[in-house]
Amino acid sequence: MIPSKLPHIGTTIFTKMSALARQHGAINLSQGFPDFTVDTKLTAYLYEATKQGHNQYAPMEGLLTLREKIAQKYHALYGVDYHPQSEITITAGATQAIFTAIATLISKGDEVIMFTPAYDCYAPTVQLFGGVCKFVKLEHPNYSINWKEVDAQLSDKTKLIILNTPHNPTGSILSDEDMSELSKRVEKHTCFVISDEVYEHIIFDGEKHASACKYPALKERTFIVASFGKTLHATGWKVGYCVAPEALTKEFRKAHQFNVFCVNHPAQYAIDKYMEDESTYLGLPSFYQQKRDYFLDLTKGSQLTFLPCKGTYFCVADYSKISALGDVEFCEWMTKEKGLAAIPLSVFYDDATDHKLIRLCFAKNEETLEKAAQIIRQL
Ligand code: PMP
Ligand code: GLN
Repeated sequence: MIPSKLPHIGTTIFTKMSALARQHGAINLSQGFPDFTVDTKLTAYLYEATKQGHNQYAPMEGLLTLREKIAQKYHALYGVDYHPQSEITITAGATQAIFTAIATLISKGDEVIMFTPAYDCYAPTVQLFGGVCKFVKLEHPNYSINWKEVDAQLSDKTKLIILNTPHNPTGSILSDEDMSELSKRVEKHTCFVISDEVYEHIIFDGEKHASACKYPALKERTFIVASFGKTLHATGWKVGYCVAPEALTKEFRKAHQFNVFCVNHPAQYAIDKYMEDESTYLGLPSFYQQKRDYFLDLTKGSQLTFLPCKGTYFCVADYSKISALGDVEFCEWMTKEKGLAAIPLSVFYDDATDHKLIRLCFAKNEETLEKAAQIIRQL
């Protein structure tokens, strides 16, 4: 038998639930991905890239023109400067950026604070590198941070804090006050931050995204990770990026070059051309807010109780009026018996906390949302 470095880890919930949905022909609001097509302009650029011969290795750091576009975006949206040459790296999705940032920072015994429910890749990656996870629960049902609990976990061994805003799976967001609280603590404890901002452009009701780059004490020690999968409705392209100050990026790239070396070249070319038009990402809040509102409207009168959704393309609902089952069993039952797949929230906790909540992805065309809502109304 091969000794396992991750003895407690099985197959991810996203893989499991999507497979179950396929098996039972259920509507799949579980794994987060759009079911509508990407802009044909983007696919045309991809074709153009392959035809024009951009089919060999891309530069290790990513296409410079694409990194320049990303730098311009940070300047325009957040008023901060990142140097495209030395502070921006194109990655194979946000997952690889997170993996590489953790690989860069974490050695045996280093402690990492993360907030639960936590996106599934953080803790196993920390554990692969011998790090010790310190979990702080976001306060149910608002999913705000209790800073006293953070203080209780901070120590000389704290090397890293992992943030995620807008937050998957809960749809909550961090505020300016949260970022100020965090700034005070990272300065005192000299630890690093990974800020997972893959949903930076999917934020609703006029709220402003609290990017870590806007807070000087955070910017200087933070790896911000992002994903074009979310921005371009193309999760299968697996292209993302990491922005971080030069000293951090220098170390990040040492790991990155032996992790993937470089990222899909034609896709980078296509994204670079596509980003010339800023409206492609500036229009996302209203595009997804409309989907959120449409879906919530359709589910009115159902026995699910929806929690506020301030960002991401997920909403969370309490099903306790419908069933006493645990959330994993409830999702399996709903997929098999009712034809609708969702994600149970307990899987994002180290201790499987079960508040009888499910996550539903509304990045779907109207027909899918209507069919899903019809099932929900009959639960
Ligand atoms: N972080 C969060 C919070 C996510 O929701 C996702 C994917 N949905 C990722 C990271 C990974 O992004 P990618 O698919 O670009 O690897
Ligand atoms: N991030 C997507 C979600 O939250 C899934 C990504 C994956 O399947 N690993 O559903």
